[in-house]
Amino acid sequence: MKVIMEKDLLRANTDQAEQNRELFNKNNVSVINMISSPGSGKTTLLEKSADSLRDYNIGVVVGDLYTARDAERIEKAGLHAVQVNTEGMCHLNSSMVARAVKELPLEQLDLLFIENVGNLVCPVNFDLGEHTRVAVLSITEGIDKPSKYPGIFRDAGTTVINKIDLLPHLDFDLDTCINEIKQINTGTNIFVTSTTTKEGLDEWCSWLKSITKGNGQEA
Ligand code: MG
Ligand code: ZN
Repeated sequence: MKVIMEKDLLRANTDQAEQNRELFNKNNVSVINMISSPGSGKTTLLEKSADSLRDYNIGVVVGDLYTARDAERIEKAGLHAVQVNTEGMCHLNSSMVARAVKELPLEQLDLLFIENVGNLVCPVNFDLGEHTRVAVLSITEGIDKPSKYPGIFRDAGTTVINKIDLLPHLDFDLDTCINEIKQINTGTNIFVTSTTTKEGLDEWCSWLKSITKGNGQEA
């Protein structure tokens, strides 16, 4: 019985996700679902990318368990932000996103980020209507994240390996990590970034620019 109910739930989610995607396509906005563990640096990455993307109109749906802190930071960086509090739920679903985007000037946007709740497991099962997924992995999380949570790395068109400035302080082999990700997903884009030293941010932002305005299908 439980299995059937979960299937129904997922089907309802997928139906709403298709409607979201239609709405996004109609408004010519490219949509990225960002998935990571808590503390990987998603919000800071968006804040620090805002400056390079100032010629574009960008919206962010910020999923969080309870607070509005991340949305406030994003607004300060000059992006349009809408907070979704999931009241403890560990992922966003497509109806939450449908409600949230009503608060955004979708017709003006070039790019919309959906910052999912920090969690590497169940967000993977919930299509939100995005065009592509970005997995963010901080090197502080250790080298075994991709092999422990292959679902997200398999799905993600792009992986960002973040906080690379901490490399000298950690026992983390970057090449091994990249190879593991490529073994799980041969076609994924990989960006290696630091929001402190700005390493890799130009490449990341160039890619973002390349997928704006309806170019959101997998680059
Ligand atoms: Mg955040
Ligand atoms: Zn969940």
